[in-house]
Amino acid sequence: MKAFIYQRADSTTQAAAAAIQPGAKIIAGGTNLLDLMKLQVETPSQLIDINRLPLDKIEETPDGGLRIGALVRNSDLAADTRVRQRYGVLSRALLAGASAQLRNKATTGGNLLQRTRCYYFYDITKPCNKRSPGSGCAALAGFNRIHAILGTSDHCIATHPSDMAVAMRALDANVETIDRQGETRAIPIAEFHRLPGTTPEIETSLKPGEIITAVTLPPPPAGVQVYRKVRDRASYAFALVSVAAIIDSTRGRIRSARLAFGGLGPKPWRSLQAEQRLANALANTATFNSAADAVLEGARGFGGNDFKIPLTRRTLHSVLAEATLT
Ligand code: SF4
Repeated sequence: MKAFIYQRADSTTQAAAAAIQPGAKIIAGGTNLLDLMKLQVETPSQLIDINRLPLDKIEETPDGGLRIGALVRNSDLAADTRVRQRYGVLSRALLAGASAQLRNKATTGGNLLQRTRCYYFYDITKPCNKRSPGSGCAALAGFNRIHAILGTSDHCIATHPSDMAVAMRALDANVETIDRQGETRAIPIAEFHRLPGTTPEIETSLKPGEIITAVTLPPPPAGVQVYRKVRDRASYAFALVSVAAIIDSTRGRIRSARLAFGGLGPKPWRSLQAEQRLANALANTATFNSAADAVLEGARGFGGNDFKIPLTRRTLHSVLAEATLT
C-alpha cells in the first residue's frame, strides 16, 4: 500500500475543503476503500477520516419521513424500529448486503459511493476505462457473468453493487450534501448515480469536494414492500438480479407499483414504464409479462450474462405474485 497522510476532520466543511485537494479521499467505514488501496486501485495521498462528525443519527422529518445521517452504520439502519416498520424494503435490502461484520462498519454514505465489483476493475494489470480512462474494457469480451444488461455503453458494462441503494431508489430518497462553503443541496437518488457513457470514471453527480451528510426518505408509500435478491450463494454475494417492489393492491387489482432493480445496470435501475403498466391492472400473468417487457426493453447481454434477461423476468414474476397475494 502506498504511504498516505491521515487526518481527522472536525467539521463537514473542513472535510469538504480537504477532500477537494488532489489525491485526497474521504474515509468512513472503509470497507471498500481499504480493499481498493491494498490492490493499488486507489492510491490516495491523503485520507480524511470523517468518523467523528455528528452524522450518525436517524431522525423523524416534519413530513413523516426519516433523515438518515451519512455515518449511520448499515446494521444500525437495518435494525432501527422505524425503518423495519415503515421501510421494510430498506431493512431487508440492507440485511441482504455483505456480511454482519461489514454491515457493522459500512456507512449509509459509503454504501452509496461503493465502487463496482467488476473483476477487471480490481486487477490493475487489465484494461479498464473506469480505473484508467481510455485503456479499454476487458469485460466486454471477457468473463462478464456479473455485468450489466441495461444502461451500458461501449466504454463500460459494470453494475452498481449496492442493495441499499436499490431500495432507496424505490423509496425516492434524496441525498443531502455539503460543500466547503457550507452550501447544501438535496439530490434525488435518481440523479445521484450516472450512466457510464464515455466517462465511466465519473460515477455520481457529486461535485469535487462535495460530501454526503444524510439521506432523506419521504413518508412511506402505501403497499406491500418486498426485496428479493438472487445471487450465486445464500450469503455474502452481490446480486445477479435484485428487485425492490412496493405494490399497493387489493383483491387481485393493482392500484400502484414501484419497481427498482439491482444487478442489471450501472446504477440502481427504476422502470417507470413497468410501473405504469402495473397501475390499475389486474394482477395476472399477462400484466406481469407486460411489466417485464417494459423493464427489459433495450436489454443486451454480453455472452456470460445473457442469462440475466430471463432471470429478471422470472424474478419479477415471483415478486409480483408474492406482493399481490392478498
Ligand atoms: Fe472497467 Fe467497466 Fe470494463 Fe469493468 S466493465 S473492465 S469496470 S470499464
